[in-house]
Amino acid sequence: MYNEWEDPIKEALNKPEPKLKEVAQKTSEEKLTDIDLDSNRDHLSVGNTGLESIEQGAERIHVDDKAIINCRADLNQLVPFKYEWAWKKYLDGSANHWMPEEIAMHDDIKLWNDPKGLTEDERKIVETNLGFFSTADSLVANNLVLAVYKHITNPECRQYLLRQAFEEAIHTHAYTYCVQSLGLDESRIFNMYREIPAVATKAEWALPFTQSLGDPNFKTGTPENNQRLLRDLIAFYVVFEGIFFYVGFTQILSMGRRNKLTGVAQQFQYILRDESMHMNFGIDVINQIKLENPELWQPNFQEEMIKLVRKGVELETQYAYDTMPKPILGINASLYEEFIKFIANRRLAQIGLPEQYPGATNPFEWMSEIMDLKKEKNFFETRVTEYKTGGQLKFD
Ligand code: FE
Repeated sequence: MYNEWEDPIKEALNKPEPKLKEVAQKTSEEKLTDIDLDSNRDHLSVGNTGLESIEQGAERIHVDDKAIINCRADLNQLVPFKYEWAWKKYLDGSANHWMPEEIAMHDDIKLWNDPKGLTEDERKIVETNLGFFSTADSLVANNLVLAVYKHITNPECRQYLLRQAFEEAIHTHAYTYCVQSLGLDESRIFNMYREIPAVATKAEWALPFTQSLGDPNFKTGTPENNQRLLRDLIAFYVVFEGIFFYVGFTQILSMGRRNKLTGVAQQFQYILRDESMHMNFGIDVINQIKLENPELWQPNFQEEMIKLVRKGVELETQYAYDTMPKPILGINASLYEEFIKFIANRRLAQIGLPEQYPGATNPFEWMSEIMDLKKEKNFFETRVTEYKTGGQLKFD
């Protein structure tokens, strides 16, 4: 309860008419650099949030004033676009909208309830992956909403982030729907990341990156803090969504290819398609920040990011061995080791870092249809057509 003197709403209501401030002039006069080390000007180096008071009479938006971080141009005006790619991804993501209930789960329920339908190892893989993903996508959503969004000072990127946040909610919905359809013990599956080390490790690794930005006093605008944001983006988009999801996705999609749990597999296939777009958006944002703030991409920072990716590879490899101690579905953990290295090389190259695993190849060629960005476009088009006709995706 606010005392009279500290009630922010009352204060706002009693505020005199907004003055025609000289902000527009100020912005062009004091053309801001992304990094301002002068503490007296510190407030100027911090970007807008979109919640600033409305500046009556301020100039219209100039596209050149827009920037991904530390931007002072009004964040409530979506256009003119500076980053067409962000808007395009928002449109593509929206065109690809789906809901978990659209996917038939009858055959999965029948198979799961048949004592001879699946082996113990297959059941365990399904449960462990539902355990990992059911909380992982909540963690990604919380990172977006509570840590990243505020510091991305561009409306078209935010438009995509809002779309992404909703997709993360759909994914958590999808995992819940799978858990409920198969009649699994919900609390056991959702609590796995607090009970089973293999499920917990990756989430535990990622948390400090988002916690670092979650601090209410955190602001970008200094080289250190701009790097902290960039590091969080790399940790979540490149490692978490770009590496940590791939063993689990491949395991579940392998079942679908063998005509087992095709409903669950289809849910995962739709999720993977969304996820590859999240990752590609994140990579575009990371590269744009690098372009606009080249001073952040120092050799020591690059080294740190390489270590981050290498640690990601280590943890995902461990996850492969933990979830697949013996070969099943025609695959084994050592194939995953190769696959993860192959993916990590791609991720490193996408953000302009040297590949760390020379010669790593893709043992799961069938996954490349979904992973390959060029083919992904066709894949989207196929999906949209099938979505409209209510058809089901087929596994090759
Ligand atoms: Fe995602």
